[in-house]
Amino acid sequence: MNIQKLKALKERLYEDEIKRDEIDRDYLGMSSIGDRCERKLWYGFRKFNKINIGDKTDQLFKLGHLIEWGMIDLFEKKGISIQAKQLEVSDFGNKFKGHIDGLICNGSIANGKKILFECKSSNQANFNSIVKKGFSQFNYYHKYNAQAQCYMGYLDLTGCLFVIYNKNNSDIHLEFLEFDKDEFNILQDKAQRIILSKNPPERFYKKKLKECDWCEHKIICRYPDLYFMSEEDEKCSICKHFLYYFNVTSEYRCVGVCACTTNFHLAVQTCEDWELNI
Ligand code: SF4
Ligand code: SF4
Repeated sequence: MNIQKLKALKERLYEDEIKRDEIDRDYLGMSSIGDRCERKLWYGFRKFNKINIGDKTDQLFKLGHLIEWGMIDLFEKKGISIQAKQLEVSDFGNKFKGHIDGLICNGSIANGKKILFECKSSNQANFNSIVKKGFSQFNYYHKYNAQAQCYMGYLDLTGCLFVIYNKNNSDIHLEFLEFDKDEFNILQDKAQRIILSKNPPERFYKKKLKECDWCEHKIICRYPDLYFMSEEDEKCSICKHFLYYFNVTSEYRCVGVCACTTNFHLAVQTCEDWELNI
């Protein structure tokens, strides 16, 4: 096999992974609710086309799972049982969702109470920074904290044990996080605001900053005239006339001009009134 064929094979492998991820996810993830830019979260929730910013998110996600299973195994060998692995937590008619790593239900570290178990991996530089400056000073702390606060809030837990794994040398660092009810309420409001917003929320970054360079929705946000999509990408969720709402029974439906009732994330049946929501 020559170099060109190897290159083409590599591209195909990742392309397939990205497409599968796009089809599968039809909710706002609790793992991303801590992101500062609500507009970015809204674009993701409404399934606007993403641009490939060069990371291999899906593969990193899978690697994260392998590390998590390894850590669970390590804890369980020491008699600390991790239960409810990958338990689903959701709200707003399943449109705000996440999956916990597990629950510690026994052992002296839990003081007889259930606590959340979350495992994260990091490179050497980030690991050093967490150990030296503290978890709360870490760049991604706001995202990890938000995710854990949501899980604790919905599962009525009072604390979370974070295991941070160093991918360079397999060292681990432990942090304990208390539940913060006020923070949980803020995050719940934020999720609801994003799900119900008819139009793109305000940009968090008024000027284009470094964070925007790493945003997979930067084209639609910053340069809408350059946003490219094919006819098959047209869907109700990115239509200007689409409004998403839930009633007392937590049902969602489209109240666009055509009042379409299809499942909006998977719907490809748009109508002649379709207009891109920019
Ligand atoms: S480009 Fe920047 S402001 Fe726009 S959605 Fe992305 S992060 Fe937010
Ligand atoms: S049914 Fe038509 S008008 Fe309604 S959201 Fe879908 S494309 Fe837009």
